[in-house]
Amino acid sequence: MEQQRLTKPVRRVVIAGGGTAGWMVAAGLSKSLGRLLDIKLIESDEIGTVGVGEATIPTLMNFHHLLEINEQEFMAETMATFKLGISFENWRDVNEDYIHSFGTTGTDHWTAGFQHFWHKGRERGIAGDYGDYCLELKAGLQNRFAHLPNNGMNYAYHMDAGRYAKFLRRFSERFGVQRVEGKIAEVRKNLVSGDIIALRLDSGAELEGDLFIDCTGFRALLIGQTMGVDYDDWSHWLFNDSAVALQTKSVRDAVPYTRSIARDAGWQWQIPLQHRVGNGMVYSSRYTDDESALRTLQAAVDGEALTTPRVIRFTPGQRKQTWKGNCVAIGLASGFLEPIESTSIHLIQRGIIRLMQMFPQDGISQADIDEYNQQADYEIKHIRDFIILHYTVTNRRDTPYWRDAATMKLPPSLQHRIDLFRDTGRVFRVPNELFAENSWIQVMLGQGILPASHHQTADLMGDKELAHFLGNISGTIDRTVAQLPSHQKYVEQYCSGT
Ligand code: FAD
Repeated sequence: MEQQRLTKPVRRVVIAGGGTAGWMVAAGLSKSLGRLLDIKLIESDEIGTVGVGEATIPTLMNFHHLLEINEQEFMAETMATFKLGISFENWRDVNEDYIHSFGTTGTDHWTAGFQHFWHKGRERGIAGDYGDYCLELKAGLQNRFAHLPNNGMNYAYHMDAGRYAKFLRRFSERFGVQRVEGKIAEVRKNLVSGDIIALRLDSGAELEGDLFIDCTGFRALLIGQTMGVDYDDWSHWLFNDSAVALQTKSVRDAVPYTRSIARDAGWQWQIPLQHRVGNGMVYSSRYTDDESALRTLQAAVDGEALTTPRVIRFTPGQRKQTWKGNCVAIGLASGFLEPIESTSIHLIQRGIIRLMQMFPQDGISQADIDEYNQQADYEIKHIRDFIILHYTVTNRRDTPYWRDAATMKLPPSLQHRIDLFRDTGRVFRVPNELFAENSWIQVMLGQGILPASHHQTADLMGDKELAHFLGNISGTIDRTVAQLPSHQKYVEQYCSGT
């Protein structure tokens, strides 16, 4: 049967926007398919980038492996530090903290996850904190880090977003990407097919293409303004719609975790880099105003300010389609939830990999578009649920923001997960979901859910056997962590190449 194609073969790719998304797309496409394509990227110095987005999750490593990026070089150039997780402070309640770390906790039995054994141990008074059984969490708490054999330490990075874009620009240009500086003044469309033909810059220059990647950030110049794709607004579940960002000088050693400190109507981030700290407040304009948010932030940061505070607005949600016609949106143009679990750069990378897997070299097919959109939708909805979890499971009732978050009506998919864990301690990761069981359990326990029961397999162990089992795990972790160097020293040595 003849293949149905909506367009002719794709050879000319135009990337609109040169933030983290634009340059990641340029790097991914040029490294994998660059010899077959003519790739141009347009960015506007006058508009600039969103200037935040500096905490990542371990999946970024997969992207860097794909690009064969040298880690030491990347870290030195982006002034990166290692990240082992996120410290959630005041989230469960004021003055109650926990860490959501990377890695796994304990060891599972085939019928029952480690949490069931821990739960039994806790009932019997022979188990420590759940975090005592996770290497990355304990290393993070003690500000220690080292690479371990066989990827024994699961980590991500904090990095300078501006430097990362420049790093990827140099990389992409080596693989043939042409950068064009200028402001897109008009998007020319084929009035019959509705596809984009060319981008006209304010200089008058025109860039024609077969495929256009919209990386224009919140403006969504191509996917939203030109292709008319609507936006699913999720602000009834995700209240935050504003942020104020401020960079400060480092005044202490960089810790290997992001700090997320819950406030009256949002939360504050602290991202330690080698040369500075990224700070910010994410908040809901329905519950506070910019001045109060800024005051709270300024009162909480230490270290001299390096930038002028900048307010950023966003609508939490996603485009109803991220690929329409010959336009694919990647990055903020495709949607944004909020920064709490550092998932946005991950979603950029997933969009790039999906696009590479379905690259329309023979012309665009509607089946590819549908598959791409379906996968993107599935992926972001699970992440959305995981983020809502942090707000809705809490003992905080001290402000209207937290009271409303704790009592909102949840997506059924999330309500089910919470009910299942609360009743039975069970958690199941669905196929292709970003967050694994370990993440769901750490956050559900951390936010204050203690399951009512555990799996019977755990009851087959006597107290002595269980104490031995648990003690072995935490003892091995303690011995390993005690031998690790300080995170700060390790980063300094690693980045200096010694
Ligand atoms: P932008 O950085 O906004 O880039 C848009 C590009 O398009 C720019 O180059 C701009 O010049 C160009 N452009 C726009 N209009 C035109 C035009 N007319 N002509 C020419 N060029 C144009 N993500 C994480 O993974 N971790 C985090 O910790 C994190 N923290 C965040 C905190 C906040 C407060 C916010 C708002 C986001 C955060 N994110 C985070 C998301 C992250 O910042 C973005 O995913 C990432 O920076 C990619 O942005 P972008 O490239 O899509 O958009």
